[in-house]
Amino acid sequence: MKNRITILIVASVAALLALSAIQTHLVLNTYRLTRDAFVDEVDSAISVIDVSGRQDSLFDEWSTEMMDDLTDLQNHRIDKAEVLVRMKSSADSKRPEQKKLYQSLVDSLRLGYDVEYKKLITSVVMYNGNKADTIILLGPADRLVLFGEDFPDADANKIDRMTWFTKHDFISVVGDTISTRSFDLEVVAETMILITDRNSIVFGRVAKLLLASVVIFLFVIGLLFYSIRNLITQKRIAEIKTDFINNITHELKTPLATLSIATRSLRQKPVLDSPTAFTDTLDTIDRQSGRLQKLIDQVLNNSLGAEAIVLNKEPISDTVFFSELIQDFKLSAQHRDVTIHVDLHAPEVILRIDRFHLTTALFNVLENAVKFGIGHVGIRVHTAIKNGEYVIEISDNGIGISDRDQKQIFEKFFRVHEGDVHTVKGLGLGLYLTGQVLKAHGGAITVRSALKEGTTFIIGIPLG
Ligand code: ADP
Repeated sequence: MKNRITILIVASVAALLALSAIQTHLVLNTYRLTRDAFVDEVDSAISVIDVSGRQDSLFDEWSTEMMDDLTDLQNHRIDKAEVLVRMKSSADSKRPEQKKLYQSLVDSLRLGYDVEYKKLITSVVMYNGNKADTIILLGPADRLVLFGEDFPDADANKIDRMTWFTKHDFISVVGDTISTRSFDLEVVAETMILITDRNSIVFGRVAKLLLASVVIFLFVIGLLFYSIRNLITQKRIAEIKTDFINNITHELKTPLATLSIATRSLRQKPVLDSPTAFTDTLDTIDRQSGRLQKLIDQVLNNSLGAEAIVLNKEPISDTVFFSELIQDFKLSAQHRDVTIHVDLHAPEVILRIDRFHLTTALFNVLENAVKFGIGHVGIRVHTAIKNGEYVIEISDNGIGISDRDQKQIFEKFFRVHEGDVHTVKGLGLGLYLTGQVLKAHGGAITVRSALKEGTTFIIGIPLG
């Protein structure tokens, strides 16, 4: 059973982890798709800029100037570095007008967010027949920003990549020889946009989905936790019931066996002939039937809840109450090696309690100190007044109770599972009843204990 529950818990946790991984993957995918859809939306919104005639003519102007520079390069009038310087300065001279144009177009779109734009020339390669001559093949650090702002690429989106091939005829002057030559040109340009607040806008669009999936996920975790906790509780109840049946069977067996021997011996002549033996046997029968009765009463009455306990409260001096209690207890524990030390609050206090029920409740605690004691039993009863409560502390030097068991000892039928449960008699009802009696009085019982050192029960009863 325990193994099955462990397997169930491990399997459920594993399934939950797998489910959360899938869910995270799906949510991230949705986020990416929504982001791409948003970028497409922005791209088509600002596409008017690319098709605006003025920007095209600015591009044409720049490319014509580039062609002239490349012709000068072919004619060895300038070198490659100078071509680059001229290409950049030509772009610099066109950018202010393009930026103004772009800003007025974007403003007229009223998008509700800011979009920055740039067109980069990423490579220019010249071909002379089969020979390629790279003018620019730029890395990110050394590129030519033709139009727009030079924002970093990290958060930007590439919305276009254009490759432009052209053949250019020019007049070549080498020494005295003038001829018409041509070169082929390949220009690659990229367009990028940077949407400020892109991530928060996309997040806003997937927020509902994200929230719903988090809520559902938490709900599933809660449900699983609740089911497993219920399962463990059911299992514990089943164990407690089995223990109780084992205990009661064991408890009933001894007096029944003694009764059967005693009644059989009553038929035997030596007992019939001896009045003393006869009365002794009758006394045994009486004691054993009394014990049986006590056991049945314990099961029937002691399992009552606090609400079912009818109290008959009366004022009584604590000195009187404890002296009677200790006297009765000493009598019942006389066959054991027990020392009891009583330290009562002075001056005496008048308690309003149900004498009968509280005696039974405290008796259970005192009897346990003897039952679960090792060697010489030392009990200390100490009383005091704290925060308007009459506090009784009953300490022993017995086997002690582990931290885990301390949480359960006041539950119905609970007995510590240690070795043979039958070595110490009991039904696991004593402390439950004590707890219920105190609850009926408006008080409470708690425990402080360390294994092999001893146990202290702290009982609080409201005064007044
Ligand atoms: P019972 O004594 O019939 O077993 P109780 O309800 O009185 O039932 O006690 C529940 C369990 O708490 C006991 O079985 C025992 O394991 C543990 N216990 C109670 N009192 C003590 C004590 N003084 N020292 C050690 N263990 C104790």
